[in-house]
Amino acid sequence: MMLPIERLNQIKKRILAEKNIKIADLSKDLQVSEMTIHRDLKPLIEEGLVVKTFGGISLANLPTTDDHEVCVYCSRAIHDTLSYRLILSDNTIEIACCAHCGLLRHKQLDDQVIQAICYDFLRQTTISAQRSFFVMDTSIDLGCCQPQVLSFEWEEHAQKFVKGFGGDVYAFNDAITTVFKKMNGTCKHDHT
Ligand SMILES: [Zn+2]
Ligand SMILES: [Zn+2]
Repeated sequence: MMLPIERLNQIKKRILAEKNIKIADLSKDLQVSEMTIHRDLKPLIEEGLVVKTFGGISLANLPTTDDHEVCVYCSRAIHDTLSYRLILSDNTIEIACCAHCGLLRHKQLDDQVIQAICYDFLRQTTISAQRSFFVMDTSIDLGCCQPQVLSFEWEEHAQKFVKGFGGDVYAFNDAITTVFKKMNGTCKHDHT
């Protein structure tokens, strides 16, 4: 029998990966009643992560950031389509300005991170950071943090991008290690 908090984390992971889920499926897969699932979902609905649909839930459009919101890591202003969101085990969400800061913050928080969401650079859709591919050292400069890190849902897209614009492609774990190394093993950078 799963603890409610474990169930909640399972549900979060699934909604982030699948975007739509039926209550009946959650009830079956997690082996609890639909009423229990409804109770589990309440905080997720309240925090705005999911919305109710007929017989199920959908991943909400991530709330857009307001003008005052700044990167949790470097305090730059946040542009939604570059941002990297960390959903933590205590149900808080942290937002980093870009994958550079997101990956470094992810490394800092480590297993407190339940899920991380970034945007596909080409399609501007939300994607799971842990399953994304990251491009560094490309010739296109977006003017956020250096070394710049771009995220892609598909390795194929990342590879094509690199063919056109230069750079290297990394899977999630390698991307964290590499950006950390490029920062000389420190987590600080200046704001020039
Ligand atoms: Zn930042
Ligand atoms: Zn940045």
